[in-house]
Amino acid sequence: MELELDKGLRSFQDEIRTFLAEHRMDELAGVNVEPGYAGQQEDWGDDRADAWRRWEADLTEHRLICPQWPEEVGGRGLSGMEMSVLNEEFHRAAMPRVLRGMGESLVGPSVIVQGTDEQRAWFLPRIIAGLDRYCQGFSEPDHGSDLAAVETRGVVDGDEIVITGQKVWTSGAHQANVMFVLCRTDPDAPKHRGLSYVLVPMRLPDGSSNGIDLQPLRQMSGASGFCQEIIDGARAPLFNVIGGIDNGWRVAMTTLGNERGGRATTQHLRYERELWELVDKAQSTGRHEDPLVRQDLAWAYTHVQLMRYAGLRLLANLAAEREPGPEASINKLFWSEYHKRFGNIAMNLLGAEAMIRPDGPGYRTSHWQQVFLMSRAETIFSGTSEIQRNIVAERALGLPKGPVADSR
Ligand SMILES: Cc1cc2nc3c(=O)[nH]c(=O)nc-3n(C[C@H](O)[C@H](O)[C@H](O)COP(=O)(O)OP(=O)(O)OC[C@H]3O[C@@H](n4cnc5c(N)ncnc54)[C@H](O)[C@@H]3O)c2cc1C
Repeated sequence: MELELDKGLRSFQDEIRTFLAEHRMDELAGVNVEPGYAGQQEDWGDDRADAWRRWEADLTEHRLICPQWPEEVGGRGLSGMEMSVLNEEFHRAAMPRVLRGMGESLVGPSVIVQGTDEQRAWFLPRIIAGLDRYCQGFSEPDHGSDLAAVETRGVVDGDEIVITGQKVWTSGAHQANVMFVLCRTDPDAPKHRGLSYVLVPMRLPDGSSNGIDLQPLRQMSGASGFCQEIIDGARAPLFNVIGGIDNGWRVAMTTLGNERGGRATTQHLRYERELWELVDKAQSTGRHEDPLVRQDLAWAYTHVQLMRYAGLRLLANLAAEREPGPEASINKLFWSEYHKRFGNIAMNLLGAEAMIRPDGPGYRTSHWQQVFLMSRAETIFSGTSEIQRNIVAERALGLPKGPVADSR
């Protein structure tokens, strides 16, 4: 099954192919994250970091950063089909997309759907330009899956909102300058109401903390990719409340829908590349002759193909403008469970080598050790597998809601 491209899409494909052929930078071939990305261990060196900056400038000039966003905020208004073609072409050319993290994948889509014109005009170009880097302040020590029970308070004070409470597991908080926070603005309302979604600056204009004490947390991979935060009177203008005061649950649902389903049409590309790397490893070490290794690799291949077909089906739905159902949860469940097992497969294939960390400063881990360790987290973040199954049970199978204790 291949994408049938109509005339318009074929000419778009030609345009992107030509751009990539004329502008490619060999220093960045095969690279897929920007320098300084959390958890990245290799030293980039000045040349590659400089090439990245030039690549970023080139993509900005051609409106190829956040190109799915409307033209009036700096995007190109690309459709789901065009984005799929674009991602395929970058993948084929082995050139990296410049992505804007949670700003692009979570905050932007939420501001586009739930924000005002003024908010769109202010926040979105700043994300494209890389001026604002976001982290997600949803989870709290006692409220992860039961997100609607968050206790962090937001109190309106004149034309500002003042936030006090505690957040945890905030990925990339040490690299972000804005946190999108879900906080309780009406403690007397039922728990899904009385919440607000606020874009809170991490620091004041003079560079000092905006009442947010960042405490890095170390993961079992050795990296400190996330933090917990004690928030004591952090201030944000009321302009930064998306969707209006007490209306944050709806905005949070838009964010979570994008978090769980947003990569569905293209994620197979990443897993396909990773799988072929493992197949190469099996061949170069002679492990490909082991019947169990062959079984595992074939299992992984079929699952990546299933992801590809699911992505194509989703694209067909997008093209036909059909309403999405519980696909976002099915998607999250499928890729995260796949990848957890893939991590095991990689470790089994490497055998004893998997148990030895590479030499070097800090707590270094090899590429495959990283894949294995990080895959353990993937069935937890963005909503655990149990939570996704609950959603599938309710929305796909039509079963009644499960009993949930109110922890407040
Ligand atoms: C690597 C990583 C990065 C993260 N990044 C962020 C981030 O950037 N921002 C952020 O806000 N959060 C982040 N999180 C937090 C993540 O969203 C939560 O860990 C997750 O929602 C689960 O919440 P919890 O840890 O409180 O577990 P709990 O909610 O306490 O759940 C514990 C166990 O109970 C199960 N369970 C809970 N409720 C139910 C139910 N109703 N039915 C069946 N089973 C249930 C869960 O599946 C789980 O197995 C991150 C987590 C990880 C691991």
